[in-house]
Amino acid sequence: MRVTGLPPYDPANIFARILRGEIPAKAVHEDDFALAFHDINPQAPVHVLVIPKGAYVSQADFAANASDAEIAGFWRAVGTVAKALGLEEKGYRILSNMGEDAGQEVPHFHVHIFAGRRLGRMVP
Ligand code: ADP
Repeated sequence: MRVTGLPPYDPANIFARILRGEIPAKAVHEDDFALAFHDINPQAPVHVLVIPKGAYVSQADFAANASDAEIAGFWRAVGTVAKALGLEEKGYRILSNMGEDAGQEVPHFHVHIFAGRRLGRMVP
């Protein structure tokens, strides 16, 4: 059952269009559960977005409504991307903006991976 109180999924959002191949993206990984691609406006030397293949608005929607296989597959893909990009030794940061106060702009759940330099302290 879907959690209420969330905006409905908008199939015209930019990441849905990337998943459908309507907009190009610089993919770094794709499998049954996830697509990873370079952010168009990178905030670090490495800035990759990982998105689930399923139609989930946000972290809340994904956690509540995705299947266990989708959740496991998505998070394994995040790890696969980090390993494939050689980020494990020096480290990386995972971030996901959820909703208005966090500044989520694209209403398809996504995780940012930042790496490639010493990252600043995480403060609100
Ligand atoms: P914010 O813009 O505040 O980071 P989000 O957490 O919703 O909000 O992140 C959306 C991210 O998607 C941004 O980092 C933005 O640069 C990126 N982005 C938007 N359009 C594209 C695109 N066509 N290809 C790759 N990345 C994109």
